Amino acid sequence: MPVPQDEFDLDIALHTLSFATRQIATVMDLDRFTYIALETMLDFGRSHRALLIAIDDDRQHATVLGDYHDGHFEQPDLLFQMHGSEFEEHLAMKRGRELEHLAIPDYGDVPRDMEKDVCVLVPLLGQDSRVIGWIVLEVRKGNGVTFAEWQILPVISTIISVAYQNARHFRMATVDSLTRLFVRRYFDLRLREEIARIRRHGGSMALMMIDIDHFKHFNDTYGHQQGDIVLAELAKLIKTTIRQDVDIACRYGGEEFAIIMPNTDLDGAMVLAERVRKATERHEFPGQDEPLFVTLSGGVAALTDDDSLEPNELLEHADEMLYVSKKNGRNRITAWKE
Ligand code: GH3
Ligand code: MG
Ligand code: MG
Repeated sequence: MPVPQDEFDLDIALHTLSFATRQIATVMDLDRFTYIALETMLDFGRSHRALLIAIDDDRQHATVLGDYHDGHFEQPDLLFQMHGSEFEEHLAMKRGRELEHLAIPDYGDVPRDMEKDVCVLVPLLGQDSRVIGWIVLEVRKGNGVTFAEWQILPVISTIISVAYQNARHFRMATVDSLTRLFVRRYFDLRLREEIARIRRHGGSMALMMIDIDHFKHFNDTYGHQQGDIVLAELAKLIKTTIRQDVDIACRYGGEEFAIIMPNTDLDGAMVLAERVRKATERHEFPGQDEPLFVTLSGGVAALTDDDSLEPNELLEHADEMLYVSKKNGRNRITAWKE
């Protein structure tokens, strides 16, 4: 353990701690939490790489949730088996420690360069004091965690642990496990919020409902499991096609999706909806020897501060237009016009 340093050192550590508490304790979104937690740990440990590893409920596996290195934040979402890995030995370790080296199965080594760097492993503890994950830092040799920081580390890792569990519970309650899109309950809530915001501050928003064409036939032909692969893959495609951190994509029903588009008028919504439709039509879905294709139909409706529409009325408009798209031959988007 490094020798004690001066008060300045403690000051900086406490300052980081207080900043981190405010930042981390309030964040609900798991992705955002991962980013902030790793950024905080990078500052705190003066390191150039921080990883977040979470142990699964089965305690047999763990997932690399985040890897923040050299200014890049990545979410590998890589699952590995704990059994036989070095992590198994650290399951009972309740305090942080410096290690020469740590291998993350199927992922890589920390540090990447053992000549220059060492690794700091910080356990995250759950309510029952069981290890629920780790923060792993890559730190320059001789510039590791200071004495003051070792004292504060348990506090900061407790804050991270509690916030992680909150964000995880929030995700479980709001995100569908197959598609990783928001569930309908969360969608209803956000739609009401968005409409209320427009009533207060003006502006517009749009709503898109989409439904996969002839999906029953698809399932009958390729099986339900293949259908699930398509649902998960289509959800990913939707997420990358809409505006990141702006539009809110939900799994509304079995093979139906709803997307809330804040600050968007009807024309803008049609552009976005067409983008999703075309991306889907072109996409080669995996799972069979030959690529698979699906199409989708959609309905779009918008709302401005002139409208006195209730959330369910806006939904009905979009849904009616979806029905029109189906009736007119599918693989098309129809917009609600008064
Ligand atoms: P249309 O073009 O009119 O939408 O035809 P469709 O067959 O897609 O419509 P319908 O609503 O009659 O059927 C929806 C089908 O979607 C029923 C079911 O087989 C499938 N489906 C719904 N949820 C899931 C799911 O979670 N997984 C899989 N694999 N299939 C699902
Ligand atoms: Mg349907
Ligand atoms: Mg359908």
